[in-house]
Parts: sequence; C-alpha cells; structure tokens
Amino acid sequence: MRIVLVGPPGAGKGTQAAFLAKNLSIPHISTGDLFRANISQGTELGKQAKAFMDAGNLVPDEVTIGMAKDRMEQPDAERGFLLDGFPRNVSQAVALDETLKAESMKLDAVLDLEVPEDEVVKRIAGRRICRKDSSHVFHVTYKRPEKEGVCDVCGGELYQREDDSEATVRKRLEVYHTQTEPIIDFYREQGLVVTISALGKVEDVTGRAMEALR
Ligand code: ADP
Ligand code: ADP
Ligand code: ADP
Repeated sequence: MRIVLVGPPGAGKGTQAAFLAKNLSIPHISTGDLFRANISQGTELGKQAKAFMDAGNLVPDEVTIGMAKDRMEQPDAERGFLLDGFPRNVSQAVALDETLKAESMKLDAVLDLEVPEDEVVKRIAGRRICRKDSSHVFHVTYKRPEKEGVCDVCGGELYQREDDSEATVRKRLEVYHTQTEPIIDFYREQGLVVTISALGKVEDVTGRAMEALR
C-alpha cells in the first residue's frame, strides 16, 4: 500500500504513522524526521534545511523532493510506504505523482487527520522528542515517559523541538493552511481522500484509520 498522511502540525501524524506502518508492514517515511536526522548528523542537506525549519517555513522543493525520492527508492519501500509530512504543497504532490507514474505505481489513499486548532496547539506545546531519534515522541501530559526527560524506547534525552515554540507554531499553522491544505483538494479530485477525526485516544484514532483504509 502507498499512503499519504496529511494533517496540521501536531495532529498526531507521526504517532499514528508508527502504528499504521507496523500494522500494514510498510515503512514510515517522515520528511521531518529525515531532516532532523540530517541536522543532528551535520550533513550538507541538514545545513540547507535548518534555517527554513527554525522559521516554520517549508524547506525548498529542490531539496525536499530529492530527499523524499531517495528514501522511496530504498529496497524496503518497494512494496509500499506511508508518507508523513510529504507532500506538503501542490508542486510536491505533482512531483510525487510523476515519480510514481514513471514506475507504473499509484497512491492507494490519502488519510486526512482532522483536529481542531486549539487541540493541535495543546499537543504541540507539550510535545517532547528524543535527541537520538525524533520519531520517538512523547507528551508532558498525554504521553508521559516512565522517567521524566528520558526516552522509554532508547534512553535518549527528551527535549522540546525548537520549531515547537509558540511563534513558530503560528507560522507553521499558517503555512499548513495556505500551502498544504490545497493538496487535499488536489487528491480529492483523484478520489483518494479519507478524512477521520484524530481526537480521542491514540489507539481509537488508529482503529478509525485502519477502518478507513480497508
Ligand atoms: P510536524 O510533524 O509538526 O508537522 P514535521 O516534522 O513534519 O512537523 O516538519 C518539521 C519541519 O520540517 C517543517 O516545518 C518544514 O520546515 C520541514 N519539512 C518537513 N517536511 C517537509 C516537506 N515535505 N517540504 C518542506 N519542508 C518540510
Ligand atoms: P505530528 O506528527 O502530526 O506533528 P505527533 O505525532 O508528533 O504529531 O503528535 C503531536 C503531540 O501530540 C505529541 O506530543 C504526541 O504525543 C501527542 N499526541 C498524538 N496523538 C495524540 C492523541 N490522540 N491524544 C493526545 N495526544 C496525542
Ligand atoms: P472543518 O470543516 O472540519 O473545519 P477544514 O477543511 O476547514 O474542516 O479544516 C481542515 C483543518 O484545518 C482541520 O484540521 C482544522 O483543525 C483546521 N481548521 C479549520 N478551520 C480553521 C480555522 N478557522 N482556523 C484554523 N484552523 C482551522
């Protein structure tokens, strides 16, 4: 299966993607996690991306599309993948369509996670992630780690993402509405969009998502 996950920052895309990828036996591909891994490894790509991310802007398409393509070409993505955070604007969506078409492949579904803005703000404000692996995600009230400040999965230090500051979040939400939301209509025209509520318990949302993808 080839699935795209969309939703505002803090909707729970990464959280759901981890469970869905496991249930569906496909890799979870998060462009945000790929950028953060590049930044912590000090790569050239990471250097190019950092200033855009810190400002809450999108990293330019030239950088992002190449990175996403490289990841989708890895052997583990041959049978499918769950894209989280990509595409994030219409030109990325067009580039993805072209890439898939060239391989005679297509998307199976676009899962749209709907969450009211006040809830998204609470989720982001309390989010803490692991220094070693930013796909290990916690929340100060909704998903407390066993030991404060320490990742349950790998023992890494938990911290607040720089771009989860209030001012940057406002910018990211604006970018979501102006640049990312239009891809929902783009995919709606292809009949691919399924919208679910991402409110409530994590496992309930996963259940709704699995039902919607059947
Ligand atoms: P969230 O999960 O909170 O929405 P992500 O981890 O997906 O955040 O993304 C963090 C930042 O990484 C974005 O604000 C943006 O700067 C950059 N980024 C991630 N994916 C993309 C993309 N597809 N295109 C451009 N920038 C991206
Ligand atoms: P996204 O990838 O869409 O930015 P995350 O998966 O990182 O979102 O989730 C944002 C924050 O909200 C994290 O701290 C996460 O632990 C928390 N979270 C995710 N799903 C839920 C949920 N259903 N209820 C409460 N908190 C949640
Ligand atoms: P709805 O009819 O449920 O509001 P939309 O397509 O308008 O659906 O909203 C899509 C996403 O944008 C939702 O996840 C919601 O959190 C967010 N959203 C909707 N309206 C607003 C608004 N006025 N301001 C900020 N975010 C909004």
